[in-house]
Amino acid sequence: MKICSSCNARFESSGWTCPKCEYTPPEINGFPALAAESADSSEGFHPEYFEQLSSLETGNFWFQSRNTLILYLLEKHIPNLGSFLEIGCGTGFVLAGIAAAFPSSALTGAEIYGAGLQYASRRVPGAKFMQMDALNSVCQKTSTSQ
Ligand SMILES: [Zn+2]
Repeated sequence: MKICSSCNARFESSGWTCPKCEYTPPEINGFPALAAESADSSEGFHPEYFEQLSSLETGNFWFQSRNTLILYLLEKHIPNLGSFLEIGCGTGFVLAGIAAAFPSSALTGAEIYGAGLQYASRRVPGAKFMQMDALNSVCQKTSTSQ
């Protein structure tokens, strides 16, 4: 289910155009941008770090151990994982691990920085991705549209 960030209508669709008001969110690098105004913000993280992070994750004990722990918990508690949304998917390292362990799951990655989505979509080509600010997307869109 999707909620239109312009009129708050709830709808089911593979696309992002609202069937009620026909609002379509802008895109950043080909991904729907639900909080475009925050896509280039740099509070605590600089989007240019994604390239370095992407190359460091593979082979790094911390990132590999974190994936091992996440996959252990998912397999233990949600062995039939149908769908999964990772908020703050970064370069998609965690989502790639989940895709390998749960190949039939519908995966979605969300990231506030549009730059990260390019790396994540290359790592997990079967997942859907969107740019969003999990804390402010709906409130900001609603307040600016009225
Ligand atoms: Zn709408």
